[in-house]
Amino acid sequence: MVATPDIVLRARLLREQIAHHDQRYYELDAPEISDADYDALVRQLQRLEGEHPELVAGSPTLRVGGAATAAFAPVEHRVPMTSLDNAMDESELGAWSERVAKGLAGAPAHYVCELKIDGLAISLRYEGGVLVQAATRGDGRVGEDVTANVATIKDIPKTLSGSHVPDVVEVRGEVYMPLASFRSLNERVTAGIEIEADGKPRKELFVNPRNAAAGSLRQKTPAITAQRDLGFWSYQLGEVVGGPVFERHSETLGFIRAIGLPANPEIVVVDSLEAAAAFCRQWQERRHDLGYEIDGAVVKVDDLAQRELLGFTSRAPRWAIAYKFPPEERNTILRDIQVSIGRTGRATPFAVLKPVFVGGSTVSMATLHNEDQVRLKDVRPGDTVIVRKAGDVIPEVVGPVLSLRPEGCPPWQFPTTCPCPLESTLQRAEGESDTRCVEPGCPFQRDQRIVYFTSRGAMDIEGLGERTVFLFSDAGLVSDPADIYSLTAEQLLRLEGFAKVSAEKLVASIAASRDRPLPRLLTALGIKHLGPSAAEALAKAFGTLDSIMSAGEADLATTEGVGGVIAGSIRRWFDQPQNREMVGKLRAAGVDFGRVEVSRLPQLLAGKAVVVTGALEGFTRETAEAAIKDRGGKSPGSVSAKTFALVVGEDPSANKVAKAQDLGIPVLDRDGFLELLETGALRGR
Ligand code: NAD
Repeated sequence: MVATPDIVLRARLLREQIAHHDQRYYELDAPEISDADYDALVRQLQRLEGEHPELVAGSPTLRVGGAATAAFAPVEHRVPMTSLDNAMDESELGAWSERVAKGLAGAPAHYVCELKIDGLAISLRYEGGVLVQAATRGDGRVGEDVTANVATIKDIPKTLSGSHVPDVVEVRGEVYMPLASFRSLNERVTAGIEIEADGKPRKELFVNPRNAAAGSLRQKTPAITAQRDLGFWSYQLGEVVGGPVFERHSETLGFIRAIGLPANPEIVVVDSLEAAAAFCRQWQERRHDLGYEIDGAVVKVDDLAQRELLGFTSRAPRWAIAYKFPPEERNTILRDIQVSIGRTGRATPFAVLKPVFVGGSTVSMATLHNEDQVRLKDVRPGDTVIVRKAGDVIPEVVGPVLSLRPEGCPPWQFPTTCPCPLESTLQRAEGESDTRCVEPGCPFQRDQRIVYFTSRGAMDIEGLGERTVFLFSDAGLVSDPADIYSLTAEQLLRLEGFAKVSAEKLVASIAASRDRPLPRLLTALGIKHLGPSAAEALAKAFGTLDSIMSAGEADLATTEGVGGVIAGSIRRWFDQPQNREMVGKLRAAGVDFGRVEVSRLPQLLAGKAVVVTGALEGFTRETAEAAIKDRGGKSPGSVSAKTFALVVGEDPSANKVAKAQDLGIPVLDRDGFLELLETGALRGR
C-alpha cells in the first residue's frame, strides 16, 4: 500500500522527533523523554515503515546512535559498532528465536545470556598488549576518542596480561557507574563540593547512573573522569589481529578474562530459548540485587559460524536481541507542589503529578521531603519531571527536564501558612531542615495523631486507616484518639461507605484494641521521641501507664534505653492538661493501662547482627540498638557478610546501603524493623 500524504507527514514528524531526541541523548547527555517513550516513538515509525517500505530510505531506524561531536577527535571503527534490536516481552523474544532458527535452516543454537548493563558502549584498542585508544560508539562508524578519560578507569588495564595477547585486539564493553558511586556523587553535589571543569560547584543532581556515566566519560578534563569512579564490563571482541582463533562467543569471553579484562560473572550459556527466557525473567526480578543498573538482558547466539550465517541489519546483529525490562523511569508533568501536615506539625512538600504508569504502578504523588530537597532538585509546578519507581521503593521525583521548562516558570516557594482551615503559621527553625505548623490545635495535626494512634505499629486497629479517620473527623465524630472508643455502629451507618456488617466489624475491632499491651498504648500516644523500644523499656520498668504518668523526669531517665531527651518529652507531654484529659477519656473508655510485669523478652534475634543506619522515627540510635540487644542480637556499626539485616531510616549512609545491596543482605524500613523486633522474622520471607 502506497503511503498517503498523511502517513508520509506522520513518518516525517516521527523522524524529526527521533533525530531531536537522539541528539539530546547521545551528544548532549541530556534527554528530554524517558527511554520507554523514546522506544515507543521508534516503534511507531518502524510500524509505519513496515507497512510502507518506501518510507524506509534514510530512516533513523536504520542507524546506530548519534553523531560523534566535535569536542573529541574522531575515531573510525574498523569493525562497525552496532546497536541491538529489542524484545519487549517473551513473545517478541520467541519471534526473534524463530527468525534465528529460519536463518540457520533449523540447526539448533546455543545462547549466551548476558546482563544488559545500563551504561555506554566503549571500544578499547590494545596494540602489542598496550592500550592505545578508547572510543565511544558514536554513529557506529565514527566514535569519539576518549582515551585519556578511559585510562583513569580502574577496571580497565593499560597493559594486557597472559601469554596469548594478540598483536591487535579490540575489546568492547560497557562503561557504567556503580550505584554506590552514583549515590556518593549526588551526595557531593548536594553538599556543594562536586567541582566541575569550570572550577564551579555543580548545581544539578545527576538523574541516573547511565547519564552520570556518559557525562563523566565525555569530559574535557580526565581528572574529573578519574574522580567519578566508573566501572567496566567487557562483552565482545572487535578487531583482532593474531592470537588464538575461537569458535564460540563464550570462549572469547573466557579469553577476554584471561588477558586481564573484566567480563560479567552472571553470564551463562544455555541450550534452549526457554532457558534464555528464564534467565531474562530471573534478572527482571533480581535487577536490584546488583550494585549497578541493568535495563535488560541480552541473548546472543554462541556459535561464531552461526553468527556469520545470520549476519547484521544496517544497525544491529541478527544473532542477538536485547530483552528490555519494563521501565522504571518515566517523564510526566508536575502539576503542583503541596504540603501535608504530620502529627508533629511537620510540613512535608509533595509533588502532585499527572498520573504516570512506572515501575509497575500508576504514580500521581511523590514526597519531596523538605524545602532543601525542593530547592536542590529545582522542581517547579509546570515542569516536566523524571519520575522513578524502582521495585518496591517509594516513587521519587528525580528532577526536572530543564530544556522543557515553560518560560517564566518561577521557583516554588514554601508556603508560610498551614493548609488547614485555621491557616496557622508554618515556621522553619534555624538549623533545622523541617518546616512545621506551630499551632497545636491544627486540625490536620490532630487527625494525624488519631491516624498514628490506630496504625499498625501502635494500637493496630484493623479497618481504621487514614481515609476513615478523615471521614470521622469531617463528620465531627472524633477530635482526639480517645473519641474512637465512643463510636457506635449507628453513627457509622450514617456515613458514606458503611453497611451494617462493616460498621459492626469496625466497632468490634476498635473495642478489641482496648486490650493492647502497654508498650503499644504508650507508643500510640505519639509522644515526641518515644518510640516502640523505649516504650517497651518503660513498660518493663514501671508496669502501668499511671506509674509512668506520675514518675519524675529523673526516674524516667534512668530506665535503660530511655535517657534525658525522651524522659523530658514524656514529662512535658503528661504535664499538658489536654493530654491528661485525653488519657482520662481513654481510662473511662476501658483501655487497659497495664497491669503486667513485663518479663525478659524472647531472644528472637539471638546471635544475629542487625545494623541500623539513618534516623528511624520513634527511635534514637541508642534505643534502636537496645531493642536489638534486648532480644539477644548485636548491632555493629558496619555491614559485613555476617550481617543479618540492614535497617534503613531517613538520610542513611549510602555506603552501608550499597554494601548491603552488594552482599545481598536484606534491607528493612521502619515497619520491617518493628516486625523483626516482634517476630524475629524478615517481612515477606
Ligand atoms: P540499546 O541500549 O537498546 O542496546 C545496545 C547497547 O546495549 C549496546 O550498544 C551496548 O552499549 C549495550 N549493552 C549493554 N550490555 C550489553 C551486552 N551484554 N552485550 C551487548 N551490548 C550491551 O541501544 P542503543 O542503540 O545504545 O540505544 C538505544 C536506546 O537508548 C533506546 O532504546 C533508548 O532506550 C535509549 N535512547 C533514549 C533516548 C531518549 O531520549 N531518552 C534517545 C535515544 C536513545
